Amino acid sequence: MFDKVLIANRGEIAVRINRACHELGIKTVAVHSTIDSEAMHARLADESVCIGPAPARDSYLNIPAIIAAAEITNADAIHPGYGFLSENERFASIVEEHGFAFIGPTPEHIAIMGDKIRAKETMRRVGIPVVPGSDGAVESETAAEAVAREIGYPVLLKAVSGGGGRGMKIVREKEQLASAFSTARAEAQAAFGDGSLYVEKLLERPRHIEIQVLADQHGAVVHLGERDCSLQRRHQKVLEEAPSPALNAMEREAIGSRVVRAIRTLGYRGVGTVEFLYEHGAFFFIEMNTRIQVEHPVTEMITGIDLVREQIRVAAGAPLGYEQKDIRFSGHAIECRVNAENPETFQPCPGQVTGYHTPGGLGVRVDSAVYQGYRVPPHYDSMIAKVIVHGQSRNECLMRMRRSLNEFVITGVETTIPLHLRLLANPDFANGEYDVAWLERLLSGGA
Ligand code: ADP
Repeated sequence: MFDKVLIANRGEIAVRINRACHELGIKTVAVHSTIDSEAMHARLADESVCIGPAPARDSYLNIPAIIAAAEITNADAIHPGYGFLSENERFASIVEEHGFAFIGPTPEHIAIMGDKIRAKETMRRVGIPVVPGSDGAVESETAAEAVAREIGYPVLLKAVSGGGGRGMKIVREKEQLASAFSTARAEAQAAFGDGSLYVEKLLERPRHIEIQVLADQHGAVVHLGERDCSLQRRHQKVLEEAPSPALNAMEREAIGSRVVRAIRTLGYRGVGTVEFLYEHGAFFFIEMNTRIQVEHPVTEMITGIDLVREQIRVAAGAPLGYEQKDIRFSGHAIECRVNAENPETFQPCPGQVTGYHTPGGLGVRVDSAVYQGYRVPPHYDSMIAKVIVHGQSRNECLMRMRRSLNEFVITGVETTIPLHLRLLANPDFANGEYDVAWLERLLSGGA
């Protein structure tokens, strides 16, 4: 097992990783920017190193500074968390070239899944159904039009290097295609430094259902069921739950074992999430995330498996030590992402948290790096806490989440708690009847 792990991240996920390390008896090194010197993740770690000024590109994305921090502190592994450098194959290679273990998959697997076209081709090859669309990037609007004619409108133009819900454009009819193509290309070039686009069939009311996998370095692979992340705004997840209210046990088992077979064929190691759109009983692969995800706690709550701990163990070469039949699913779990944002305009609201009191009680978990007096900096993601509840049934979870959010006191900054309370009071949501566009319809008054 590792002796000391450097955590190349900040916020709640850095705190989460620190907890897993300490429970495994591993010492930790935090890295932080100048503005984060008082941050919780830096305080909780055994050592901390300042790696640069506030802007992420100068600190949390500063590869030489992070490697230097690992060298001077004598760490033996680096955990990238999510976001920042977690899906950067160059970072993973550099970490390994410097003699540290990278707590994640191989750089090759990161590279394949980071390229959305290669990812789709690869998954199709190992028996995973993908969304109908172009075979690779489309070079021109004429090529895009040919694909659209074949698969039928509406279609989605997607940036090959897109991510974070950005770089997608809906085209409903042929007449819109030419102008949408040039705007999408220009936007992708500006946002991702790569203007290449591909075409995908637009599914009108799908659910976003993702399968959590876990693989060791000796060929053992298990799935830990699914998460339903259909509650989205601007293609970004707002609330997640497990299991999905839309799947039955047979569908769960069928997609789970198919994904396990595919992951085993690929020789993948570590944790990973295979994301699908689900409509009319069919699954279509959209992408694979090769890291721990924000919403991993809902899976932990229903399986009792500490995913970050497992991720560290398998990176150190330990065998999983259990099989698929040993995984037991128990009850239901829901996670609400609490952002420091105006709940109506979604404008970020950085500033000082003047009062902070977290909810508690049976089945309630809060993953956060906030404390009273903490200043939410304007430089990073606005998510400041995750409230996760576990219950015997979905209904129990809904009740428990409502009372937990009502207990949660955060003053000084605005938060999205009122939005979550509104969702939890909605009868369609209570019945589990929602799709990826449902929240947008609700917010625009159309649901
Ligand atoms: P990103 O990498 O930017 O997160 P994804 O491909 O994972 O992009 O898609 C994010 C979300 O965008 C999905 O959860 C879904 O809501 C929507 N989406 C993506 N592809 C399609 C599609 N073909 N049809 C309908 N919605 C889609």
